Amino acid sequence: MGKQRLSSTQCVHAGCRRDEASFSINPPIVHSAPFTFRDTRDLVDFMEGRSARTQAEYGRMANPTVDAVQKRLAALENAEQAQLFASGMAAVTSLFVTVLKSGDHLILTSDSYRRTRDFGYFLGKFGVQMDVVAPTAEAILAAVRDNTRLVFTELPTNPYLHFVDIEALVRDPRRSHALLVVDSTFATPVNLHPLDLGADLVVHSATKYLGGHNDLIAGVLAGRSELVQPVSEMLMTLGGICDPNTAFLLGRGLKTLELRVQRQNENGMTVARFLESHPRVKRVFYPGLESHPDHAVAARTMQGFGGVVTFQIDGGFEETAAFIDRLQIPHVAPSLGGVETLVEQVAVMSFWNLPRERREELGIPDNLVRLALGIEDAADLVADLAQALG
Ligand SMILES: *Cc1c(COP(=O)(O)O)cnc(C)c1O
Repeated sequence: MGKQRLSSTQCVHAGCRRDEASFSINPPIVHSAPFTFRDTRDLVDFMEGRSARTQAEYGRMANPTVDAVQKRLAALENAEQAQLFASGMAAVTSLFVTVLKSGDHLILTSDSYRRTRDFGYFLGKFGVQMDVVAPTAEAILAAVRDNTRLVFTELPTNPYLHFVDIEALVRDPRRSHALLVVDSTFATPVNLHPLDLGADLVVHSATKYLGGHNDLIAGVLAGRSELVQPVSEMLMTLGGICDPNTAFLLGRGLKTLELRVQRQNENGMTVARFLESHPRVKRVFYPGLESHPDHAVAARTMQGFGGVVTFQIDGGFEETAAFIDRLQIPHVAPSLGGVETLVEQVAVMSFWNLPRERREELGIPDNLVRLALGIEDAADLVADLAQALG
């Protein structure tokens, strides 16, 4: 079930085949802040729920372009409902604020997007308790308490690409009173369907693979309506909505999702194998390699291993920086999932405000490189890496 493949046909057609009002293949970009009513009768009927009309009165509540793309996202995740947000962080923070209350306990995994953890700590001032645990099912299950309301993990994690055994979390009765939420940004619906495996909700930074062109920022939450709808309602108050232009670009990106991610899976595997065989590379972390600690569970659960490869150069800060600066194809930039390959020295890009000792405690040595592969030809990428390694 979890290994069900996402087809390119689904990416191109599922969720919204055409706009029924305009016969347009693509959703019209509707630029309207308020939405009008014919007369007072029409407005009263709408307010009392007696109207066939679905469009709300104001663009913070709903927008037709955004709705069309949400339908497409729900179809791709096999979800009843999907909600778009202004960013992945808006999705995460809106979810946490909606679901958690004072006295609740939250479990996050240690190898994760730094700002998600930051927000968990921030919620401490409202009485939410948090444990940050190793990215394994055993560590998560050992941390569960009676008041655990939310278990949140990335699949795979960032930057070491750990793959928590989600089926073990789903099965275990110790966890059943807590919502299981997967940030599936690194996997995409091409490589993983967390909801089919029994997760309650799935979150994405759509900025990454879903948009796919390094040209937008957006977030998604998808799952059963009873869980997504309260967050959608809270979003009307929190206000971190996705605008119609961005939604349109995201919908356009989704059509090529399967093609792009298949190429990125291939590039990931080829580049990871090349790096693993290179004498100037100390260690490679890629779930598709037999040497990765979570290879077996990832191979059992995922359709493909994704386009992010993390590795350590055999050297220190200077050698690593010099290697990155010799690369010709990748841009030096954060983020991942777009058509252009991006590279970062993790210690500098994400943890430079911390002293080296603190970074090392967090597991971020100076020689750690994260390569987020695009859709360029694998042979070109390997040749570029080879010249930069010298
Ligand atoms: C980028 C990212 C986020 C944050 O998403 P934004 O769209 O940048 O707000 C959250 N989780 C993961 C795994 C990410 O890679």
